[in-house]
Amino acid sequence: MKAVRFTAWKTFPTIEEVARPKPGPGEVLLKIAGAGACHSDVAIFEQFDENMGAQLAPSYTLGHENSGWVEELGEGVTGIELGDAYLSYGPIGCGQCPACSRGQDTYCHNAAQQPYLATGLGRDGGMAEYMTVPARNLVPLGDADPVAAAPLSDAGLTPYHAIKLSLPKLAGGGKTALVIGLGGLGQMAVQILTAITGAKVYATDMKPEAMAEAERAGAITVASGDDQVARIRELTGGQGVDAVFDFVGISPTIKLAQQVVRRQGRITVVGVAGGPTSWDFFSNPYEAELTNTYWGTIEELYEVVALYRAGKLSPNVTRYTMDQALDAYRDLHDGKLSGRAVVTPHA
Ligand code: NAD
Ligand code: ZN
Repeated sequence: MKAVRFTAWKTFPTIEEVARPKPGPGEVLLKIAGAGACHSDVAIFEQFDENMGAQLAPSYTLGHENSGWVEELGEGVTGIELGDAYLSYGPIGCGQCPACSRGQDTYCHNAAQQPYLATGLGRDGGMAEYMTVPARNLVPLGDADPVAAAPLSDAGLTPYHAIKLSLPKLAGGGKTALVIGLGGLGQMAVQILTAITGAKVYATDMKPEAMAEAERAGAITVASGDDQVARIRELTGGQGVDAVFDFVGISPTIKLAQQVVRRQGRITVVGVAGGPTSWDFFSNPYEAELTNTYWGTIEELYEVVALYRAGKLSPNVTRYTMDQALDAYRDLHDGKLSGRAVVTPHA
């Protein structure tokens, strides 16, 4: 079968012919419906190096945001029907520790002993015709279209987790949120904020077409520029924003967040660009929190799917065939996409 392989640090992936995998005990073989191209993959093949550690080291098949139909059951798997559509929860922890037992494999206590982080992150992922995954990681899609749903497992789940942790700042009337960076994750963040909070949602991106898409989802956009901080403060009655979500993570976007957050507000940096920032007693408003987050939990993925099936979320998907998979990464890299590129190996 064909697969998109990450073969060496600082090297663009290639499409190679590999053997179709067999599901081990407790695993299933998924026939891939959709595999999303995430900007984290660009970081993996362009920004990261051996300092990231053995768990992310090449070679493996990319694709950590996957959906598909069950093709084959490994030994001991019950309660799953062949042909049914599922999302794959990417992170794979030990499955036994306190974090994994609440479906939070991202923060597995035994992560250091695991050979990989997730499907598509150290272990073969879904940019291929087939992928194996532990049955525990499957979240049922029912009759929902699995191709359109594929982005939910990262572009949906990651902002959902960040927003849920910020809900204490957003509960009640008159609250405000700001989304910085309106790509695959940021556009979903606008939709999730609209679906599960009553907050007024502000949004910004360098690309006018990305801001237009966010406006269609109900956001009020504020273009970058010297007066951006002043305009956001004015829009929020001089108070600043209750919850800021930064899907870029470079020094200027974190600084923007620090300048517009209100007293007792919260900044969540999700983008992995690694931009440094400074903090001292006087630099942020009183009791404003600054944190980061990583992906989400299995339980939250069920909640994201419930929102999707209720018609509250609609990922903007651009489809690519398996042969066009490298174009998906090129277009993502070059900033040519709006929403999410999804590779559909069986379309
Ligand atoms: P994307 O390329 O689809 O979107 C990024 C968007 O940010 C683009 O629309 C781009 O125009 C915009 N942007 C870039 N620089 C900007 C700036 N200075 N000001 C405003 N907007 C700017 O990327 P994505 O797949 O949505 O991923 C977003 C980030 O989240 C990446 O850093 C990715 O690695 C990270 N990520 C983190 C997690 C996590 O668990 N923390 C999970 C998935 C992705
Ligand atoms: Zn990702």
